[in-house]
Amino acid sequence: MFGTMMDNPLSITLIIEHANQIHGEKYVYSLSPDGKIHNYTYSNLYSRTMKLADAITQLGIQQGEVIGTFSSNNHQHLELCFAIPISGSVIHPLNIKLSPVQLSKIIREADDKIIFVDGMIYDKYVNLCNQIEGIYSIVFNLQNSQNELSCEYEKLLTNARDNYTTDIQDENMAMALCYTSGTNGEPKGVLYTHRSMLLHTLAVNQADVFGLTEADVVMPLVPLYHAMGWGLHYAAMFVGADLVLTDPINQHIIDLIAETKVTVAAGVPTLWKKLIPELLKRKNDVPSLQRIIVGGEPMPEDLIEIYEKELNIEIRHAWGMTEMSPTGTFSILKKKHQKLSDEEKYKIKALQGQPIPGVQLRLVDENQCILPNDGICVGEVQVKSPWTANSYFKKGLDDSLTKDGWLRTGDLATINEDGYMKIVDRSKSLIKSGGESISPMELEAALLKHPLVTDSSVVGISDEKWGERPIAVVAISDQDSDDISEILREHLSKDFPKFWIPDKFVIVEKIPKTGLGKTDKVAIRRTLDGVFTK
Ligand code: AMP
Repeated sequence: MFGTMMDNPLSITLIIEHANQIHGEKYVYSLSPDGKIHNYTYSNLYSRTMKLADAITQLGIQQGEVIGTFSSNNHQHLELCFAIPISGSVIHPLNIKLSPVQLSKIIREADDKIIFVDGMIYDKYVNLCNQIEGIYSIVFNLQNSQNELSCEYEKLLTNARDNYTTDIQDENMAMALCYTSGTNGEPKGVLYTHRSMLLHTLAVNQADVFGLTEADVVMPLVPLYHAMGWGLHYAAMFVGADLVLTDPINQHIIDLIAETKVTVAAGVPTLWKKLIPELLKRKNDVPSLQRIIVGGEPMPEDLIEIYEKELNIEIRHAWGMTEMSPTGTFSILKKKHQKLSDEEKYKIKALQGQPIPGVQLRLVDENQCILPNDGICVGEVQVKSPWTANSYFKKGLDDSLTKDGWLRTGDLATINEDGYMKIVDRSKSLIKSGGESISPMELEAALLKHPLVTDSSVVGISDEKWGERPIAVVAISDQDSDDISEILREHLSKDFPKFWIPDKFVIVEKIPKTGLGKTDKVAIRRTLDGVFTK
């Protein structure tokens, strides 16, 4: 028997409609090209977004077609985050840190019909243009307002109709596409639906997750290409919090926090580590900042201590992945933990935490047997949730999904009796540097294309500043070659961005292999970790 409730499709339209109707006077702040803070209200955002959705349909974009964005965090990107999905098409935020070669591959697979480009990073986009000829681009935020290009976005809005109504009939329609570095060397697209994104928004908007309220001023320092900026803008708008948008590499983050009175910010540990000296000096400038949501990499205990003890800012440590929209777990203290010492509390907060309501988590061994939550057994983390992918864009099912429908995360962890997960290692061969993923397999394949290289292995070793950095171990045919590191660095620079280039090239006679003839990465990592750890 079916129930008798309304079958309203779950769609992100509900977020912007609610923000406009109930919180229309709340603000979105973002940095303009002239360095000034641009601000407008949710009502302004709403009317511009609806016009943009109309303009997108007038451009001839069909339902389900993909539209790229090449932009940092700003109000136009926020407008696109709603307008594109509301018009029935799919937003594809491009990772502006990738090289033109990597990006053009992704753009071709995604089949982006047009690309909206942030004029503030137009120089970067120009390098990509030659590789993606034929794709129409629309620019906003260009500093030189005399330039024809810079007017186009605003012209689209001026010419659009006011009365656009959205038609998201099916909650399972795709709304956004984010790419993650594939463990097999190929980037993989994760295609979020209206339903998954709305459910993720509701889930993170609980007191023990993001815990946002209408009184908050929220600053996501997470780029939108990283799992839709962890969904922070959707969450903030649904509760009616003000939003502050800027690029995580902005030099004036602390000024912006002070000026707009940010209460909750979010970003990767590398960023929060970098900001400590300035925050300690300017503690009195930012009394509004109460909480930081941090994830993407492990948040070390000593950083948690500095933030909580010296800066009086609460740290909420999260774990997740692009495939999970991205939120999986949060490390929040339980009532029974309140009586513990500060040191014991920081230890718990440094764990990756408990699954948020709606996420199921299990640990399995190599025989797929479920392991106990005893805080000792180490196994692979597998997950299920209504906001977790069950296949990859255009790649379908692969061995990422178990036969009984759980996603293999490739993370190795323990889970204790209270359900707190602790990531101890990664079985997938991804390197996390400053919160960004680097695929060793892509680098290895590129190294092997060099005529001097006979075998190669790229591993991540711990790094004080970036979390991990890649090191390449290379066997070459001509041991007498001069300056092989420089030759290989140059060779890789053609296809990869600077942060992907290994810090060191270690030349060896032979790459160590396991009994099965596979590269023995564990042995390589063990040897290199002691030698190169910085
Ligand atoms: P991405 O899809 O780029 O977000 O990468 C997801 C991967 O980042 C996870 O599978 C983990 O390996 C890693 N990760 C994310 N958050 C954390 C965290 N808090 N601690 C440790 N690793 C993390």
